[in-house]
Parts: sequence; C-alpha cells; structure tokens
Amino acid sequence: MMRLVIKGGYGEHGRSCFITGFDDLRVMFDCGILDTDQYPYPTISKEEAQSIDLLFLSHAHKDHTGAVDHLIDQGFKGQILASKETLSFAKIDYDNTLILNGEPYQKGDLLITYGPSGHCPGSLWAYLRYHDATFFYSGDMQIDPLLYEIRLPKIKAKLAIIDMAHDAELRSAKELRADLVDLIAEHLAKGQKIILPVQLYGRGNELLYLVASSFKGHKIAVDRRMKEAMILMMQDLSWLKEDKKDHFLAIYDMVKDNDLLNANIIFTADTHLESKEIQDLVASIIDDRALVIATGRKKQGSYLASLLDEEKAIHIPYPHHQSRSDAKKFFEMNEFDVALPFHGKRKEVWHR
Ligand SMILES: [Zn+2]
Ligand SMILES: [Zn+2]
Repeated sequence: MMRLVIKGGYGEHGRSCFITGFDDLRVMFDCGILDTDQYPYPTISKEEAQSIDLLFLSHAHKDHTGAVDHLIDQGFKGQILASKETLSFAKIDYDNTLILNGEPYQKGDLLITYGPSGHCPGSLWAYLRYHDATFFYSGDMQIDPLLYEIRLPKIKAKLAIIDMAHDAELRSAKELRADLVDLIAEHLAKGQKIILPVQLYGRGNELLYLVASSFKGHKIAVDRRMKEAMILMMQDLSWLKEDKKDHFLAIYDMVKDNDLLNANIIFTADTHLESKEIQDLVASIIDDRALVIATGRKKQGSYLASLLDEEKAIHIPYPHHQSRSDAKKFFEMNEFDVALPFHGKRKEVWHR
C-alpha cells in the first residue's frame, strides 16, 4: 500500500514536493520553494526529513530544488538521485548523490526508471515500482518541445502526478507558439523592437530557437548571462533533440556578436527585469519603439510587473510546461488509474 503525502506544488505554481511512503521506504520527489511566498519552503518536520530514504530531483529549477538545503538542515540523510545537469545547475552540494545517466535505479524490490521530459537540460520524469505499487511523476514536462529531448513514456500506473502549469490554457503547445510568433510579427512590422525576458535554463533556448527560425531577416541579440549559459550548455548537447544540435550551434554563431542596442529582438536572462542596466535599456526604447513580451510568471513588485500593469508589456505563456490540452493528451496516451495535474492553481483529480 502506497501513501502519497503532498508537501507542495499541487494547487500552487511552485514548492513542488511529493512523498511516496511505504512501510519500510520513503521516496521524495522534488523539494522546491515558492519564492513569492513569505515562507517559501514545504513544511517538513525534522522527523519527516530524517525518514526520507531517497530524494529524486526532476530538474534544476528552484521551484523543484530550492528547498534541498532546508531539507538537509532538517536532518535528511538519504540519497539524492538526479541528472548531472540538475546537480550542477542547482549547485547541489551533498555527499550522498547518485548521477542518473540512463541506467534504471534498482535496490531490492524498488525500481525507478526515468527519461528526458522536454522541459530543460537534464529534466527527467520518473516511474517508480515497488511491490505492487506503481507511481509516475512527470516533473515539469512538455510533450511537444521544439529543442529539448523528450522520450515519451507509455506507462501504466495506479497514480500519476502530471505537469499542467498552464491549467487555464486550452491551446496546445503548437497553437501557443504560433500565436506568439504572430504577436512578434505584428509588432516587428510596425517597426518596434521586441524585448523578451526569459529564464536561463528553460524556455530561453526554446524561445530563441523559435524566434531565430521564424524571423530570419531580423537581428537578434542575447545578453551576457544568456550568452554565458549558451556556452556552458554547448559543452554537452545530449539534452537536445538529435536533429536540433547543429541548429543550436548555428544560432549561437548568429547571435554571439550582436549588440543589444542595435538588435530588433532582444533576449535578456533578467527574468523580471530587475537589474538597473536592463531597466535603463528598456526605459530608453519602451513607449512606441519597443514591446516587452513576458512569457513567464509575474513577480509582484518587479519592474516587469509594473510594465504589465501599465500595459507596456504583454503576457503570453510560452509552453515549456503543459497546457490543459497537452496534459489531457498525455493522460490519454498512458494508463493512469488516477492522475493529479500539478503546478497550476486548481486542484483536480482525474480518473480513467
Ligand atoms: Zn521547471
Ligand atoms: Zn516547475
């Protein structure tokens, strides 16, 4: 008999943390923070932290790894399982870690298999089997990514937790991307510049690929941090789809020397436009001459949030998570008795 304890991430966008419990084994999936909350951590007592045998980290983003140090402070002594990208991007410094390099994890009657989830470098879904219990955890997932590798599982599980961060979004990933391209095209045609604040190790590269392949005649520039991240990621392209590796290198060559000020399309890794440098740049061109397009979460009090409030920026989600339509499709592709869509605002239970 398996018990699921939800510590965060269900009915909220962040703080993902789920514990599967058995008589003699406890496996935690992710341990993240909700950074917009006053108390950002999942509530984990010392006793609970000490009882966890294994912690599976799906990927590096802090809403999945940001509370690992807190868990360790609370007395966690188990083993961490994660890809090497997750461990390095999230700067996990812990003795007892096992790098997941494709081999299933097996110990006694416990089997954990996993595969790339199409969300960011090193992101993994997980499938746990222990005695007669079967459990699937998607982590953050996109079943139809442009750039990132995905190996779609076809899985039978009694319980599944699946990404539906865009729970109010009925358009599929393909449709959302087409709408985003249309929006950019409309404003470029008016002679405006486009500014795209993105996340470094996630939708940033997908968006760059989408924009570079859709707007070939335009000058695209990326800021210093994004360039550094691209260089770092070029050291290991195994997280990209096989047929996209050369494209990614070609895009880097195309953007690497372009100056932000002279570009038509500007990418910045300052997700909420919080540095003075980028604020000055945006302020100097915003009104008629540029449009900021936000594709992520709105952080209250940030410069980007104020632009959105003043309608100087437009928000359109980039589907590096799943929309309702993507999640439904994934649910139907597999055999899950019960599924809990997570990472969104609503709490729903789906039955087969
Ligand atoms: Zn993520
Ligand atoms: Zn997430």
